[in-house]
Amino acid sequence: MPRPILATIHPAALRHNLERARRAAPDARVWAVVKANAYGHGIERVFDALRGADGFALLDLDEARRLRALDWRGPILLLEGVFEPRDLELCSRLDLWHTVHCDQQIDWLARHKTQVPQRVFLKLNSGMNRLGFAPHRLRSAWARLDALPQVGEIGFITHFSDADGPRGTARQLAVFDEVTRDLPGERTLANSAATLRQGGQPAVRADWVRTGILLYGSSPDLPERSAADWDLRPAMTLATRIIGIQQLDSGDTVGYGSRFTADGPLRLGVAACGYADGYPRHCGTGTPVLVEGVRTRLLGRVSMDMLAVDLTPVQAAGRPADVGAEVTLWGRARDGAVLSIDEVAQAAGTVGYELMCAVAPRVPVAVDAEPA
Ligand SMILES: *Cc1c(COP(=O)(O)O)cnc(C)c1O
Repeated sequence: MPRPILATIHPAALRHNLERARRAAPDARVWAVVKANAYGHGIERVFDALRGADGFALLDLDEARRLRALDWRGPILLLEGVFEPRDLELCSRLDLWHTVHCDQQIDWLARHKTQVPQRVFLKLNSGMNRLGFAPHRLRSAWARLDALPQVGEIGFITHFSDADGPRGTARQLAVFDEVTRDLPGERTLANSAATLRQGGQPAVRADWVRTGILLYGSSPDLPERSAADWDLRPAMTLATRIIGIQQLDSGDTVGYGSRFTADGPLRLGVAACGYADGYPRHCGTGTPVLVEGVRTRLLGRVSMDMLAVDLTPVQAAGRPADVGAEVTLWGRARDGAVLSIDEVAQAAGTVGYELMCAVAPRVPVAVDAEPA
């Protein structure tokens, strides 16, 4: 029998979350952001549930090829644009829309031989200082693009640095509006945080929103609001089983470095999941875990292949607390109890994005049978 760890993808949750994005940004079209192999969920596994989106946004050309291989005929946007001139041939062949964020990409377009003009989104650096043209350079970049026979429709894209927090989007919105005001073309600004928090504002939702993390059921603006507060459902469950039991007495310690000491009798369960599965080693005693759907806590250090949990609350709830018991590291237990990936991420000092992208290749992945 294989090791009992398993990641399960929930198409019904993905569909629900996509609907949630639409409700937050009425009339806007929705890019489902599926970069990083759909935030670790697997492009092929999420595709069917997300095909109701208006387009897919990603940045790896090979991932774009995989979407076309799934017979997706709609828009695909390359969020970082092309990386070298010959990528433009693939854009032509696969009909990819691409971001143009620097002069070199315009140079490459100018030399590109194509029958069909390409559709591009010109990127403004409105303050995040990652990719994009500075505000005073946007207009000349647009004029260059507009003059090229290789370029068809030109849209505008920018990215918010603080849509999830108190600094907000006002300053970047003002810059974007000022620079693009009299230029024709579609606009896209909002990530998940901006979509949920400000999608009611036409200037923020614009023509397209670009939602990633919310689709996967993680909150984009922790600690302010949780996934449950936003009515988002986990699209991935990471689960395993108890493979060993220890009965501790007062003074007994647990795991490497003896980081936990029992202050009384305690029934401990050893779960088959460790940092080599992608569970964060930074999680310490107290990190929430579900056993048979009952919320309990991690004890001591996470090791490579195992971690320890306190079975006291599980026994107290009258659920089986023995070898074979279901352990939910994040996501949804069989009984419907939910543990957000965000709580585990917070215990590890990171964000849900990182954990879902980091589930290790050795973890088998299944897709939930519908309906879930
Ligand atoms: C990743 C990304 C998004 C999606 O961000 P979320 O916070 O996951 O919604 C949107 N736009 C760009 C340019 C991105 O790189």
